[in-house]
Amino acid sequence: MNPNFSTQSLSGWGRYPVELCRLFRPEKRSEVAAILASGLQPSYISRGLGRSYGDAALNENAGVIWHVRMNRFLSFDGASGVLECESGVSLDEIVHYFLPRGWFLPVTPGTKYVTVGGAIAADIHGKNHHRDGSFSNFVLDFNLLTPTGRVLLCSPAEHPDIFWATVGGMGLTGAVLSARMRLRRVDSAYVFVDYYRAPNLEDALATMEASDERYEYSVAWIDALATGKTMGRSVLMRGSHAPAAELPGRLRNPRSGIGNALAVSSGPKWNLGIDFPSWTLNWLTVKAFNTAYYAVHHTALRQLVSLEKFFYPLDAIKQWNRMYGKRGFVQYQIALPQASGREGLRIILDRLARSGRASFLAVLKRFGDAGGGLLSFPLRGYTLALDIPVARGLVPFLHELDRMTMDHGGRIYLAKDSLVRAEDFAAMYPKLDSFRTIQRKLDPQRVLSSSMARRLKLVEQA
Ligand SMILES: Cc1cc2nc3c(=O)[nH]c(=O)nc-3n(C[C@H](O)[C@H](O)[C@H](O)COP(=O)(O)OP(=O)(O)OC[C@H]3O[C@@H](n4cnc5c(N)ncnc54)[C@H](O)[C@@H]3O)c2cc1C
Repeated sequence: MNPNFSTQSLSGWGRYPVELCRLFRPEKRSEVAAILASGLQPSYISRGLGRSYGDAALNENAGVIWHVRMNRFLSFDGASGVLECESGVSLDEIVHYFLPRGWFLPVTPGTKYVTVGGAIAADIHGKNHHRDGSFSNFVLDFNLLTPTGRVLLCSPAEHPDIFWATVGGMGLTGAVLSARMRLRRVDSAYVFVDYYRAPNLEDALATMEASDERYEYSVAWIDALATGKTMGRSVLMRGSHAPAAELPGRLRNPRSGIGNALAVSSGPKWNLGIDFPSWTLNWLTVKAFNTAYYAVHHTALRQLVSLEKFFYPLDAIKQWNRMYGKRGFVQYQIALPQASGREGLRIILDRLARSGRASFLAVLKRFGDAGGGLLSFPLRGYTLALDIPVARGLVPFLHELDRMTMDHGGRIYLAKDSLVRAEDFAAMYPKLDSFRTIQRKLDPQRVLSSSMARRLKLVEQA
C-alpha cells in the first residue's frame, strides 16, 4: 500500500518562504523506508519541528517526512548519562523528563522546540560553544536510513565520512532514525549569571576575550541600531550552572537537598495568537525598545536565573514569530573568524545601522574551534545573529552583507538561511565539494532534495 500524505503550505520559523509540500507522517522506521522507496514524489526531505528559519525543511511540490511521531526514548544509562532516543524526540521532552532527575542537555539552542534529528542535521551550537563546541561533540552515534534503504550506524569511528557529512548536512544524507547522546549532570535548574553592560563593540569583544573562559555559558544582546561611539553597545550575559548547595533555602528540598531545585516550569505562558501588522517592528519602535533594554540592564553579579529563562526566554510566548507580521522575517546569522572578525562586525553593524532596517533581536557570541562536520557552521571567532523583517529591498541588502561576510572570511548558517546565492555559499564553505561527493555516493538515484538544496546546489541534480 502506498504511504499516505497530505498537501500542506509549510514554512520555517521565519514564515518565509511558504511553499506547498506533500507531508508524510510516519510513526515507525519501516514507514520511513517505505516512503523513500515509494517513488511517489520527485524527492524527499526530513523535517523535525520546523524551527530552522528558511527553506531547509521545505521541498516545494515534493515530499517532506515529518519525524515528530517517532519520539520514543529507547534507553538511558544513569551512570554515564547516555540517552538513546528516536530522532523525533524534542529537546523539550528531554528537559521535561530528565532535568528533574538531574540531567540536562550538553548543548542547547535558544529554543527547546527542536528535535534531536534537527539538532544533528544542523549541528546546532549553544551558549557554551566557546568551551564545549557543538552538538555533534556529544553524539556517540546514530542510525541513518540512507536513500537506498540501508540503515547505517554512524559514529566518528564507524562510517566517519558519513557521520561528518550528516552532522550539519541538513537532512541530505538520509533520515536519522535514532541517536545516542551524552547528557550532562546538573544538580539544579538554575544558573548564576553575571550581567555586564558594555558601552560599545570594542569593549564588549575585549571583555568576552578576557573572561569568557571563566563561564560555562556566554552570550550578548547587542543594540544593532546604535551608531558612533556607542556602536555595538551590548549587555553580556555569562553564567554557569548553580550548585544546589548554593541556592537560597526556599529552592532546596529540606529532605533530599535538591528536590525543588530541579523543578521545570510548564510550557509557554502566552500565545501571540495573531499576526501583528508588518509595521509594528519599525526603526522607531525597535530604537525605543533597545534604549529601554540597555537602560534597565545594569552590570550585576551572581544573579540567580532559572535555566528556562536563561536559555529559552522566547519559548514563554507561543508563536512569537507572528510578531513580524504576515510577510515573515529572516534571521541573518554569520560566523566570522577571530583575526578579521572585529573589523567585519564593525563594518556590518555600521551598514545595518545606516540601512534604516531594524533588527529587533540581535545576538553576539564568541565561538570556539570548528568541529568536524563538513557543512557545520561554527568557526573560531564570533557569531552575530540578526532578525530582520521581510520588506522591499531585503534581498539585495542581504546579498551586500553576504559580500562583506565573505570579504572577512566568514559564512552564513544554513539553519537560518533562505536567501544566500549558490555561488556565495560555495565560496563560504570550502568542504562543500567533499560533502557533495559523499552525498552522491549515498544517493545515486537522487531521492533526497529540499528547496534549500536546490537553491544552494548542495546536491547534484539528476
Ligand atoms: C527561537 C530559535 C532559537 C534558535 N537558537 C539556535 C541556537 O542558539 N543555535 C543553533 O544552532 N540553532 C538555533 N536555532 C535553530 C534550530 O536549532 C535549528 O534550525 C534546528 O535544526 C531546528 O530543529 P527542528 O527539529 O525544528 O528541525 P527542522 O527545522 O524541521 O529541520 C532542520 C534541518 O534538519 C533536518 N532534519 C530534521 N529532522 C531530521 C531527521 N530525523 N533526519 C535527518 N535530517 C533531519 C531537516 O531536513 C532540515 O534540513 C534556533 C531556532 C529558533 C526558532
